[in-house]
Amino acid sequence: MDALIAENIQRFKSQLSEKVTLVAVSKTKPVSDIREAYEAGHLDFGENRIQEMVDKYEELPKDIRWHMIGHVQGNKIKYMAPFVHLVHGMDKLKRFKELDKEAAKNERIIDCLVQIHIAEEESKFGFDYEEAWALLEDQPKEKFPSVRIRGLMGMATLTDDQTQVRNEFKGLRQFYDKVRTELAPADFNILSMGMSGDFQWAVDEGSNMVRIGSAIFGKR
Ligand SMILES: *Cc1c(COP(=O)(O)O)cnc(C)c1O
Repeated sequence: MDALIAENIQRFKSQLSEKVTLVAVSKTKPVSDIREAYEAGHLDFGENRIQEMVDKYEELPKDIRWHMIGHVQGNKIKYMAPFVHLVHGMDKLKRFKELDKEAAKNERIIDCLVQIHIAEEESKFGFDYEEAWALLEDQPKEKFPSVRIRGLMGMATLTDDQTQVRNEFKGLRQFYDKVRTELAPADFNILSMGMSGDFQWAVDEGSNMVRIGSAIFGKR
């Protein structure tokens, strides 16, 4: 059974262009599964709960790059601030202030993405385009000196309607391009979109970071 994880990692690596970073989403999966992928040479893992990520961080090799892909609770930022590699789920202005404070305490600059709400579902998190533009335009580097905004993250609607999903990704890609050309923030070069069910469409629409869980580790 387990050897499958290594095989799946290899398959994704050979299938994806080297310009696309694979984040293996290990949420709810045991550390033994992560170790399996790690031993196959994989270093980027995504979790959606801070406490679970901290527990796994403590047990696993320290060169793993931990991605917080879920909704971030402000009062838990302090637990991940010493080690988190990239925070994808920055969905509120308040979070930037909180992350900045905890990053500074740890004498780190923490990389993050601005999460944009591109799906139809109200239950998903994120800024709308206007709010995100306002944040990016308003000197975030000066306001949050210990936070580095590296790009954008979005989750498409959960549907088989390819046209709809592609249009959501296309919209995010266009916004990403607009930020890069008009605001040109330094180090702004990550577009995190695509999961097990829709990563191919996301990559076609310009994603350079995919977050794959079940297609690597099996059903949750
Ligand atoms: C769970 C999760 C994923 C991975 O989902 P799969 O369908 O298992 O690939 C990707 N992104 C986010 C934000 C998630 O919460």
